This record gives sequence, structure tokens and C-alpha cells, in this order.
Amino acid sequence: MATTPPTRSPELRKDPVTNQWVIFSPARAKRPSDFKSKSPENPNNNSSSCPFCIGNEHQCAPEIFRVPPDPNWKLRVIENLYPALSRKLDHPNGQNDDSSSELSGLGWVVAGFGFHDVVIETPVHSVQLSDLDPSKIGDVLIAYKRRIEQIKQFDSIKYIQVFKNHGASAGASMSHSHSQMLSLPIVPPSVSTRLNSMKEHFNQTGKCSLCQVQSKDLLINETSHFFSIAPYASSFPFEIWIIPRDHSSHFDELDNKKAVDLGGLLKLILKKMALQLNNPPFNFMIHTSPIQVTDSELPYSHWFLQIIPQLTGVGGFELGSGCYINPVFPDDAAKILRELNVPI
Ligand code: AMP
Ligand code: ZN
Ligand code: ZN
Repeated sequence: MATTPPTRSPELRKDPVTNQWVIFSPARAKRPSDFKSKSPENPNNNSSSCPFCIGNEHQCAPEIFRVPPDPNWKLRVIENLYPALSRKLDHPNGQNDDSSSELSGLGWVVAGFGFHDVVIETPVHSVQLSDLDPSKIGDVLIAYKRRIEQIKQFDSIKYIQVFKNHGASAGASMSHSHSQMLSLPIVPPSVSTRLNSMKEHFNQTGKCSLCQVQSKDLLINETSHFFSIAPYASSFPFEIWIIPRDHSSHFDELDNKKAVDLGGLLKLILKKMALQLNNPPFNFMIHTSPIQVTDSELPYSHWFLQIIPQLTGVGGFELGSGCYINPVFPDDAAKILRELNVPI
């Protein structure tokens, strides 16, 4: 008969930032340190036919800008060849042919205007984001900022989601290191829920919930301007958040110095994740505030970067309930990652 080692009791936690319930169920897992990815890290993609490689620019959708602005570029921001939204709509504010329909009048239909951009993070196919120097990762972060500043000029864009898919099971179709920016004519419900949840915490405590995260048990690494934690109610095993130390509502408040600092921490965390979890596919998302926020929302709006290694699938329970089952308590994940030494 199989015997199972004693484990911590299951516990349900609600995250004060995302407002999501998570079931911590260690009995469903092997030991936290035994977590390893089994998925191949990258989709098959041959560098000789890769449109994102230097020299193959003609195979790409139009360029928005490159850094530096000469043939020997280090990063490029380009239009997505298969964009989810159209940058060429005649009526970006939603006055399409359907505007007389009942659902449109009620605000349930909005024209699909938006920008879907790709950030090619390096000219070289075999180089991953975590291989770059902190200052070069900082350049990628500053490219996001520069593009956000351009897109902010469009009144009909309400939210800009920056994200990275790395590895096939994290949704990547291209193996050349890249990230994406999707600029939306709506504020996604998860963003509104997050702001409402942070507002509730602020009303109850007088403090911003992310300024207040100070638990030593959840800390992984810190720098002058940022700290990384395994969040208190992590939805996924080894989920990591990188949070600016100073209160800041929008990612595009990042300056050059802080971008290099963040680049260093992001590099360290990605290296640690790769070493500990066997190069897992992963996603990162920058959770910033909607472009138009009111002065009263600013005291509790604080941006952060979320990293999710793809180690467990999402099943019917998660899809049905919106609650996640996480077999690894965040303090166990934080301790393992905090104590891990990686060659940088
Ligand atoms: P991912 O699927 O996460 O790897 O992101 C890669 C993105 O690049 C996808 O959204 C594709 O639509 C886009 N893409 C693929 N080929 C090209 C290309 N030649 N020029 C511009 N975008 C492309
Ligand atoms: Zn390539
Ligand atoms: Zn704050």
C-alpha cells in the first residue's frame, strides 16, 4: 500500500490584489523542490527561416521603431502580422455599422480597434531574454515604455497589456525571443477587479496593498528599486511577482536607471526559474493601470510584473470555478528560489 508523507493541511486564500480564491492543496503534489517542467521549452522553429532574425526584416510586418536606429539593430518593435485588433478602423470609437443594434447601444459591442505589436528582443535567434545583460533587458523595458507613450495618444485605447509567451505550452508560436503589446479599446475585467480589490484594501487599511507586501517568508530577491516575491495567494506553483519598491501606478513611469535595475532582477529570477524548474515554458505579464485613472484611484494603483512558469495544466475545475488549485505554498516556493545560487 502506498504511504504518503505528512503534508500541510489544505487552505483557501484570497489574494488582496487579484481578489481570486486559491486552494492550496499540498497533498496533490510531490515535494515542492521536485517540481520540474516536462514540456519542451520551445516550439520548433528553424533560425534560417525565422522572420525575427536580423537580415530577415523584409519577412516581417512593418516596423514601428528599432534601437539603435541603424541596420545593426539590437531590438525592434514591429506590427503583428496577424493582429488581434485592427489599427486601421474608420471609427475607432465604436461607431460601426452596427451602432444601431441594441447590444451596441448598451455598450456590449465595441469596434475592434487596437494595436497588436511585437517586440523582437534580440537580433540573434539563439539568445534568450535572460541571456542579455541587465542594461539590454532594460532597453527592452524602455522600448515597452516608449511604445506605451506613443499609444497613449489615442483616446480610444483604454488599456495596454504587455506580455511574453515563452515555449509552446505557454502559447508561443515563435521561438525567437520576443514579447507582445496588445492595446485595447476596453479595460479588461481582471484589471477592473484588481483595482476594486486594491481600493477595498485601501479603504480598510489606508494603505496600498502592494506597498504593504513586506513578508520576509515570501521574499525571493530584492534590488534598490524592486523586490520579487512568491505572492501570498499564488494561483500557480512558483508564480513570482516583481514589484516596484516605490508606489507607482503605471509601468511607463519607469526611468532608465530603474529599467536597468529591473532588468537585473528579471534576469536573476528567470535564470533561477530555469535552473530550479528545468527550463519551463513561462508567461510574464506587466499589470499596469488603465491609461485614464482618476486622482482618487492613484493611491492604491501599483503596477507589477507577474511571471508564471507553466508546470500544471488548467482543467475543468479552474475553468468552471475561476479558482485555482495550487499544490505549492508560496513560502515553500520562495525559500527554494531565495536560497538557490545561479551563475549569472
Ligand atoms: P507568439 O505566438 O506568442 O510566439 O507570438 C509571436 C507573434 O508574432 C504572433 O502573434 C504572430 O502573429 C506574430 N508573427 C508571426 N510572424 C510574424 C511576422 N513575420 N511579422 C510580424 N509578426 C509575426
Ligand atoms: Zn530568429
Ligand atoms: Zn503602492
